[in-house]
Parts: sequence; structure tokens; C-alpha cells
Amino acid sequence: GLYNIIYTYITAVWIPDNEEVWQSAEITKNYKAGDRFLQVQLEDGTEINYPVDPAALPPLRNPDILVGENDLTALSYLHEPAVLHNLKVRFVESKLIYTYSGIILVAINPYKQLPIYGDAIIHAYSGQNMGDMDPHIFAVAEEAYKQMARNNKNQSIIVSGESGAGKTVSARYTMRYFATVSKSTSNAHVEDKVLASNPITEAVGNAKTTRNDNSSRFGKYTEISFDQSYRIIGANMRTYLLEKSRVVFQSENERNYHIFYQLCASAMQPEFQHLKLGSAEEFNYTRMGGNTVIEGVDDRANMVETQKTFALLGNLLEISTTYSHLNIFCELLDLNFDKITQWLCHRKIITTSETVIKPMTKAQAVNARDALAKKIYSHLFDFIVERINQALQFTGKQHTFIGVLDIYGFETFDVNSFEQFCINYANEKLQLQFNLHVFKLEQEEYMKEDIPWTLIDFYDNQPVIDLIEAKMGILELLDEECLLPHGTDENWLQKLYNNFVNKNALFEKPRMSNTSFIIQHFADKVEYKCEGFLEKNRDTVYEVLMEILKESKFRLCANFFQDNPVSISPFSSTINIKSARPVLKPPNKQLRMTVGSKFRSSLSLLMETLNATTPHYVRCIKPNDEKQPFEFDSKRVAQQLRACGVLETIRISAQSYPSRWTYIEFFSRYSILMTQQELSLNDKKQICKIVLQRLIQDPNQYQFGRTKIFFRAGQVAYLEKLRSDK
Ligand code: ATP
Ligand code: MG
Repeated sequence: GLYNIIYTYITAVWIPDNEEVWQSAEITKNYKAGDRFLQVQLEDGTEINYPVDPAALPPLRNPDILVGENDLTALSYLHEPAVLHNLKVRFVESKLIYTYSGIILVAINPYKQLPIYGDAIIHAYSGQNMGDMDPHIFAVAEEAYKQMARNNKNQSIIVSGESGAGKTVSARYTMRYFATVSKSTSNAHVEDKVLASNPITEAVGNAKTTRNDNSSRFGKYTEISFDQSYRIIGANMRTYLLEKSRVVFQSENERNYHIFYQLCASAMQPEFQHLKLGSAEEFNYTRMGGNTVIEGVDDRANMVETQKTFALLGNLLEISTTYSHLNIFCELLDLNFDKITQWLCHRKIITTSETVIKPMTKAQAVNARDALAKKIYSHLFDFIVERINQALQFTGKQHTFIGVLDIYGFETFDVNSFEQFCINYANEKLQLQFNLHVFKLEQEEYMKEDIPWTLIDFYDNQPVIDLIEAKMGILELLDEECLLPHGTDENWLQKLYNNFVNKNALFEKPRMSNTSFIIQHFADKVEYKCEGFLEKNRDTVYEVLMEILKESKFRLCANFFQDNPVSISPFSSTINIKSARPVLKPPNKQLRMTVGSKFRSSLSLLMETLNATTPHYVRCIKPNDEKQPFEFDSKRVAQQLRACGVLETIRISAQSYPSRWTYIEFFSRYSILMTQQELSLNDKKQICKIVLQRLIQDPNQYQFGRTKIFFRAGQVAYLEKLRSDK
């Protein structure tokens, strides 16, 4: 109906393009309702008859005055090509990396240092209103800070995006913003300490991957605490799901965690000589990726930086554990060498009648060693985080906080495993949180403006979340299988097939595979390979090895392996950990939490926290895979816009009332369309109403609110058309 009418006067549309995703096409002959062809001229000048379905005509181009808008939702036609074009024009032509999309800040990684982050810019944003300034990460930080102070409410900044998109850089800038605008006068170094937590967690939790030389291999939620006068007093962080497999395995051209290379590069320094390290080339765990150096990175110099930050936080760590030849390993961790050699290569099998000791196969032994290495490293990582938190603890009373979440975005690779499953599950939870928030805001705005309730239909992803975490869902079936003595990945997968194929629309068995399953996520379909799910979910270390490590005379190490670790400083010389060890028997093995269930509860805690704050959203976009400055690969960008929910929000906006003008704004822009008689009335609001009723016949296309007029998609473009024809 209406769309067909609009088509009769529209001049340009978007048609699909293999390279650029969409290309612009000028209509050269008026479209008549029902026509099956659209006569258009392409950008290169060729004229074609483009076949169209009259029921689904190609998306319309926005009037030029709207192109380059700093808020995507101000576009009259809201759809993928409009969003993509607008972002591209801003990014490529104007070198603008930030754009709003309603309440979201879209940040495109420029892959180039820009002069827009100095203290002067911070001060320029400080105290300003979001709408008055160019979109910027500082504007979001300022908004959070202002709302915290104005409403006395905790805030959070949720940064997401795929690997290399710029999440960590953005999160760091928000923290720098807070440190700068809220400098504490009494506690001089507290903001420096808060900022210092970043390089340390990056040294132990970031690594070079093929996508990002400094890729965060864990999620992080940092709460920055403020006092009554909104000065920083400390911080606290929670981390999520460190990628442990990297400790023992790196793909080609990737590295282990930065700290290993920093230590190896500093092997000859006096303070590290006792570790008996050598070059990173010497160790299997550090040379596996084939290249131990990162272009432009000096590991030795970075170790000095890491040490400095450790010092700033108050000597968090006096030692560092590392791995090398077995005897050095035993010496450093103070372990019994004979026992370790015995149990790294043998297995004890206890039956009712006897106990046999069997040698392990090479593969089993490698596995046992790797499991132990991963365990030690992840304990060490958690320990460092705990110590940072202790160092950032404050004595006074926290009044409010701003949390900054830097978490992995939705992931899909050629082969997806347990890690991607968890990451995508986390993203589903965040998407739901986001949907509910947008929904609530819309509802509030309608109430405020006295607009009759409009049902907004948005993609509800609760069913996918249920599939994963509800009773008898994927995670629970996985946990059950893990408890079975002879449980296998394949048996578990079979149970998934039995429970969900043809019963749950979001779950599929791939036609060509018996070892994978497919989940329809909000962003995309993802195929997961079942191999390794059980082992990764169990995450256990061979029992006997654990016992030996428990007996280490090196207390830090021993404490890592206690069933109920005592929370005292492992360096404290006054408390003997051995005597502090609980007398109770360790809890039943079956009660040990699996990785999946631990992750589920930490996510639910995160959601609880986020829901109790006012959220602010930053979506980072990686514009190309070559790390080229200001290069915009439309395909890659479109893919990410779909995956991060930006297009979904746009769709919600487009379905309700995407354009909202105050009566004053409407009056001044369209007075040219008003008749003398209309203009002679006194009440401007009344004039707007009369004029609009005359110009747009269908009353369903707009709503008169208390202070604003709400327009359905396309209406502002129509008014613009009338205006330009005048
Ligand atoms: P991962 O998920 O792998 O941790 P990420 O989203 O955290 O990725 P970053 O490490 O923040 O990605 O960014 C990758 C690189 O992109 C940075 O090291 C930097 O070189 C560049 N970059 C990101 N944001 C900016 C920016 N605003 N200005 C200049 N360069 C940037
Ligand atoms: Mg990162």
C-alpha cells in the first residue's frame, strides 16, 4: 500500500551487490504499483531493468540531507543499506570513527592513532550533554559519570565486538576518562593504580592471535568505585573464562600469553636468573606458533613495564612460576622429583580387588602434563586478579560505581568448540539484557509523551537461552554426561539429538555430520563440533598429580591445589598453610563444579549486576581484516552489524516511530509547507497538528506526543520530498 505509493516518487534505491553488499541505483522511470521491473541507472552509469517483487521492493535511499547524520536512528529509512552507507560516508570521507545508533555508540577501529584522546578533549567533553557534542567514547563515559552523579545510581558501560574491533582500547579510554575527571585529592595515586591494573591483566591474559597482536583471552568486568563526591577510591574486577588451552597449545603464528615472552626476554636479568629461563625458542609451550616475536613489540622492554606496574600496585608478585625442564620445574615449585616423574607417566588403577600401576601412553602423558600446566596457569591468573583487587581495595565507603565490561563478542569459526559455545552463550545473555533495556526505554518514552501503548515486536532470544541453560538443556545434559564414568562426547551429542531434533526449532543436526550440532543464535547459525566438550567442561587434573602439588613446599603452589584454598597471603610468613589446611575431607568429586555450570552462575551474577545499573552500550566494529587504516570492507562491517544487534535495534526503531521531532523543530523546518491561514493561528503546536493531518492522510503514520511528534519510517523522507519540491 503506502510503500507502493512512496515508490512512485522515490528517486533512488539500494540493490544487492556481491562486492559492496549494496549499491545505489537511481530510478530512471517512475515505478507504477505492481510493476515487476524497476528501470534504474547504476553508479557506473549502466542502465538496467532490475527485476523486483512488488510485495518486497528494494530498500529506499535516504534524502541526501540525512546522509552523514551522527545518529543512525535519525535516518528516515532505516535498514541495513542505509546504516552501512551512513557509517561508510562518515568513516571513509570524514574520518569519523564514532556514530550513535540510538543508545548505542558504534565505534569503528581506525587502525591509526588519532589525535582525539588527549586531556584537552577529555576536558571538552566533561560536563557536556551527549547530544551537544560529536559522538565519542568520552561522551559515553561522560554520560555514565553524569547519570551516576545525577541519579545516584550505579552505571555500566558494555563494550562488545569481535576480536580486534577495539574493545580493550575503548574500555581503557573510558577508564582514563574517569581517572582524569574525578581525580582524587586525598588519595593521590589511586587512579594510577586503577589504570595500572590494565597492563598487568594484559600481560597475563592477552596474547598474539592471527586476528589481533594483543588479543584479550578472557572477559573482564571492572567496577570503579566512587565516594560521595564522585572521586575514584578504588576498583574491583571480575574475570570470565580465561582461554587455558593457549598455555599448552598455540596455532600457527599465534603466541602463548605475553608474560612468558617477557620473562624469557629477561632471562639474563639478575632478578630472573633463578628461574633458569632461556629464549622463548627453547620451550615447546612458547615456540609452537612458529614465531616468538611480534613486529613492533619489545618483550624485554614490556617486562620492565610489567614490573613497574606490579611495583605501583605494591609488589603483587615476587615470584613468577614458569615451566621448563622437569627438574627446574620441581625445584621452582618445590616438588618431589621422583613422584612427579612417576605420576606424569603412570596411572594408578584401583579396582575392588587390587591396585595396578600402568604406564601411560605418550598421548596420555602429554595430556596429563598439559592439563596440569593449564591448571597451574589458571590458578596463577586468578591469583593475580585477586591480588590486584586487594591492591585496589578501598578503606572508605563506596557510594556508587561504574562498571566497564570488556567481553568477547559473538564468534563463529570454521570449527567451533566449547569455547565458542560459552562465548556465544554469554552474548545471548547480553543481547537479552539489551533487548529488555531498549524495550523498557521505549515504553517509558511513550508513557512520558502520553502516546497510546504500541506493541513493539522484537526478536526475543529467551528460547535460545533456555535451550542452553534451562532444565534438561544443553549444559545440564553435558554435566550429566560428565558424571558418567564412561561418558563420551558422542553419547552426549546423541542425547542432544534425541532431545532437540525436530522438537526445538533452534537446534539442528547438520545433514552431513554425526559429530556436530547447530544452534540458531540471534546473530547467526553456528555449528559446534562435539569433540572435547566433556573434557573441557570437566577440566580435571589427574588426581595423583594434584595430590603431589598439594604437597609442594612452595606455599603459593600448594595453596592453588587445596580443596578449600585458605584465603591468606601465600607470602605471609606467620601463617603456616599446612596447619591452616582444613581437616575436613574434600567434597565429593561429583560435587565439583564444571566449567559450564561455573560460567552459567558467573553470567547470571553479571546479569544481576548489569540489571541493577544504568547501562551504556559501545559496539566496536573491525572495518577490515588487514588492519589497514580507514579501509572499509562493507561485507565485513555488515556481518558485524548483524551479529552485534545494531541492525536488530534499527529494526525495532523502524517498526515503531524511528523519527521524533519536537514541535518547535517541526515548525521551523516545515513552515515552508504551511499555508498563510495555518500560520495565522496562535498555537504553534496546534499548527503542527493541523498541517501534518493535511500533509499525511494516514493517521497511523504519526503520533502527537506531549512535546514531540513521533513518525513512522519514511514519513520524514516524504516531508523532505514535499519541502524540496516547494
Ligand atoms: P580482542 O577481542 O582480541 O581482545 P579487542 O576488541 O579488544 O580484541 P583491541 O585490542 O582493543 O581489540 O584493538 C586491536 C588493535 O586495534 C589495537 O591494538 C590498536 O592497534 C587498534 N585500535 C583499536 N581501537 C583503536 C582506536 N580507537 N584508535 C587507534 N587504534 C585502535
Ligand atoms: Mg581485547
